[in-house]
Amino acid sequence: MREGLRATGPADRAGTVPARRYDFLVAAALVLLAPGYLLLPAGRPESLAYTALVVACALVLLAVVAASPARRPWRLLVLTQLLFTTAEVVTAHLDLVGASPSPSPADVFFLAGQVAQFLAVLRLLPAPRGGLRRGSMLDVVVVTGSVGMLFVVYTVLPALDGSREELLARLVAAAYPVADIAVVFLLVRTTGWRSGRPGAFWWLTAGLLASVVADVTVAVLVAAGQAEQPRWARLLWLVFYACVTAAACSPSAPRLGRPPVADRPGAPLVRLPLLGTAALLPPLAGVLEHLVPGAGDHGVALGIVTVVVVALVLVRLWDLLRVTRSQAALVERLAETDPLTGLPNRRAWDAEVARVFASARAGGPVSVAIVDLDHFKAYNDTRGHDGGDDLLVRAARAWTHALPGVFLARWGGEEFTVLLPGVAAHTALGVLRAVHDSVPDGQTCSIGVATWDGAEVPPAVLARADAALYRAKRTGRDRTVVDGGHPLERAG
Ligand code: GH3
Ligand code: MG
Ligand code: MG
Repeated sequence: MREGLRATGPADRAGTVPARRYDFLVAAALVLLAPGYLLLPAGRPESLAYTALVVACALVLLAVVAASPARRPWRLLVLTQLLFTTAEVVTAHLDLVGASPSPSPADVFFLAGQVAQFLAVLRLLPAPRGGLRRGSMLDVVVVTGSVGMLFVVYTVLPALDGSREELLARLVAAAYPVADIAVVFLLVRTTGWRSGRPGAFWWLTAGLLASVVADVTVAVLVAAGQAEQPRWARLLWLVFYACVTAAACSPSAPRLGRPPVADRPGAPLVRLPLLGTAALLPPLAGVLEHLVPGAGDHGVALGIVTVVVVALVLVRLWDLLRVTRSQAALVERLAETDPLTGLPNRRAWDAEVARVFASARAGGPVSVAIVDLDHFKAYNDTRGHDGGDDLLVRAARAWTHALPGVFLARWGGEEFTVLLPGVAAHTALGVLRAVHDSVPDGQTCSIGVATWDGAEVPPAVLARADAALYRAKRTGRDRTVVDGGHPLERAG
């Protein structure tokens, strides 16, 4: 284990031999812990051993995290475990002096620990691109809300007519599993680590799951009037403390605090069945009440819970649709934009030309121009490819400025296209002079222009413009040539 603990840096990457050996040793220690603990004599020895192990886990956690700058994000989890450990020590003390109030002063520390634990896991497992996104928080609210309200219906409501202490005890007992489920759900939303989920993630998950099972059991037992905690539930809490410490000490622990690379494709699909299950739980409980004799009748309460959960799910779906719609709009924009210059690309050009030709059928000239930088290959050769890129970007910016409101696209390479609705060939010459005059860095360009005959398909007009451009190049460059039998015309 010490070898695993010493392994930082390169060993942080999952799958290294020290990381795997570390996981094996921790698993072996846990397997040995279980029978050892279960065989202890009940009462004082068991209680002392339990508390000693919890305190030991907290001290190891504190020492390892305090000594490791790479484990900075784990500090909130250390605080969490210190709060829980304080609560355990208070509980053990109350047990020793024979006082076991329910709820007890220890619950203040336990509940504070639950809140700290939620924040600690949030800190440790940030959503891709950082921060907690609204959708993830809504997921947590839906799932935790559904389970929490069911706990209230079945464990707290029946105590409404009883004493205040009893009601409080049940409320506190129900709070733990609900808080656990919120934390476990936070784990579900995290994805996208480079080379898979680190070992530390799995130790943390295992610990939290052990805690959920123990807390749910105890909440149900408290509701059933049994104050005594079963030994195996306490063993599960020990597993929780040991696993959290093992997670923080794992060679892969530093990876957990770093933001994941990106969402794994399809990750939201995992959430949909979870949301569906959360929405179905309350009505299913109602159906079960009818099928199982003596299961009680909470029809009205379950109806209210169902309405609330379905409303939450609808809010979540509405949010999801909004996100999907804005992402679709973004994808569409990206698909029609040239990444280098930010100009519309060929796909956008095709769509715009088709639209303009269709609306100009009733009459009115439409001209198209192809603008090609002269000797760009030589420019690339002398200034390098980055220099060439820079010229393309600056030329696009200059031409956009020179032709305000005109549709200008990057056709490909160092060729650009200009769409001039309502502009005849000879007027186009004047408009395009601004393009000639604004080529950056003392460079020149050649332009071919063609005017639509009112019947041609767009590629045919563009082919005529290209032919005109070819003539401009052949006759010396740095000029504009109009296609269609006109004599060659120089720009400027
Ligand atoms: P002409 O005056 O006849 O147009 O000659 P030219 O050198 O401008 O044209 P040519 O077709 O011979 O070369 C175009 C060059 O443009 C070749 C290619 O490497 C370069 N090119 C194409 N796309 C890009 C780009 O995105 N960035 C850079 N830097 N260069 C590009
Ligand atoms: Mg070219
Ligand atoms: Mg060129």
